[in-house]
Amino acid sequence: MVVGGGVAGLSAATALAGAGRRVLVLEARGELGGRATAFADRTTGERVDNGQHVLLGCYRETFTLLRRIGAEGHVRIQPTLEVPYLDAAGRRSVLRCPPLPSPLHLLAGVMRWDALPWRERLSVLRLARPLLRARAALRTPASAGETVSAWLTRHGQRGRLREWLWEPLAVAALNQSPSEAAAAPFVRVLAEMFGRDRTDASLALPLVPLHEMYALPARRYVESRGGEVRLHALARVHVADGEVAAIDVRGERIACRRVVAAVPWFGLRALLAGDLEPMEPIIANAERLESKPIVTVNLWYDRTVMDDLFVGLPGRAMQWVFDKRQAFGERASHLSLVSSGADALVALDNPALIDLASREVAASIPGARGATLLRGTVIREKRATFSLAPGQPPRPATATPIRGLVLAGDWIDTGLPGTIESAALAGHRAAEQLVNW
Ligand SMILES: Cc1cc2nc3c(=O)[nH]c(=O)nc-3n(C[C@H](O)[C@H](O)[C@H](O)COP(=O)(O)OP(=O)(O)OC[C@H]3O[C@@H](n4cnc5c(N)ncnc54)[C@H](O)[C@@H]3O)c2cc1C
Repeated sequence: MVVGGGVAGLSAATALAGAGRRVLVLEARGELGGRATAFADRTTGERVDNGQHVLLGCYRETFTLLRRIGAEGHVRIQPTLEVPYLDAAGRRSVLRCPPLPSPLHLLAGVMRWDALPWRERLSVLRLARPLLRARAALRTPASAGETVSAWLTRHGQRGRLREWLWEPLAVAALNQSPSEAAAAPFVRVLAEMFGRDRTDASLALPLVPLHEMYALPARRYVESRGGEVRLHALARVHVADGEVAAIDVRGERIACRRVVAAVPWFGLRALLAGDLEPMEPIIANAERLESKPIVTVNLWYDRTVMDDLFVGLPGRAMQWVFDKRQAFGERASHLSLVSSGADALVALDNPALIDLASREVAASIPGARGATLLRGTVIREKRATFSLAPGQPPRPATATPIRGLVLAGDWIDTGLPGTIESAALAGHRAAEQLVNW
């Protein structure tokens, strides 16, 4: 039994189905996908993601999931890392990493990046040793309590190199300000990105809306192996005498002994019932874990305004803009602007956010200057990810003190920030534990 139909639950369910188990997936909402999903836009009918999701070449568990369910072709991965930027005056520059071994490709790419003064390009060399050390051990040479900002300063990263490369990367990967987030998960991301293969750092973008990218193929995979997926199925797991006894769903009590709880940190308490004393510390820590928001503004213009599929907007409130028409083809016609670590924006009302986003587009994207904005929509994901600030409660392991109960979800202690890859890894670990039980 798998409770939760997000990336983690579907990774666990498909791994279990692939290992010959008959799986029942229970998802509370009317759609699969959880925090990585898509819905129909009320006006145009086109499928709109709940927020742009970017994968990295180093997302090995995610690609394992996509391959398993026959959905690998639903994302396009860059041959090598390439990031276009538009500065406040609309001047375009590109960080393009040449086809050299990793991490030399990054160092060479930064050296050739004409948006930066020479002194700052050279300072990237100071990161070569920490990157290689982090990669060798896949652990962090950051001290406990150190923030991303402090770590970057310690390694001589400053000026535009920091504002245009490291800080946007940290905010995108951690969904939190570098002055707030712990360095450890960031260094882990760098170690994964600048791993042995140069495509580890490449960006991979979905070519179809998120539910089509993985959720529907995962559902078909489970069902084709004799499993079942139930929607609108808010579940409650009953624990008695230190083990899983049953699941209640929509008035039905289903006897069961093994459950993957693939719900987010803010859903664990409500999921469990019965004698929970041994689980109390885990549940209490989950309740104390703070959440961080992401704000997405979707804009429809009367014409095509962008040449690039996506562009970084350094120094702007909306840090990235994606042209969904170029990603999805003619079935989509909007730009999607993303603000991660969006604590300051999340309280603004929709007209203010749409106005802010369209002003930033007009200022940065030359092609938008004569274009007319037809409409805009806003998606606030207030609990997009969990906080990575030093001092947050520890993340739990997959195994729990309750027999038959294992945990999955991006917030499980994978060492990675709250990402699709962390969710897929946690889901796969949970399935492995149940298979070997
Ligand atoms: C706007 C946005 C942008 C993001 N961008 C990126 C990105 O670019 N790259 C990246 O790697 N990651 C990104 N992320 C993070 C990524 O989406 C998450 O890390 C990942 O989707 C988490 O998956 P999950 O399965 O752990 O949890 P969830 O997706 O939260 O899934 C949990 C599921 O459990 C269900 N559930 C909860 N309680 C119950 C219950 N009692 N009974 C039944 N079902 C229940 C929920 O309805 C939900 O569907 C982004 C997130 C957001 C919100």
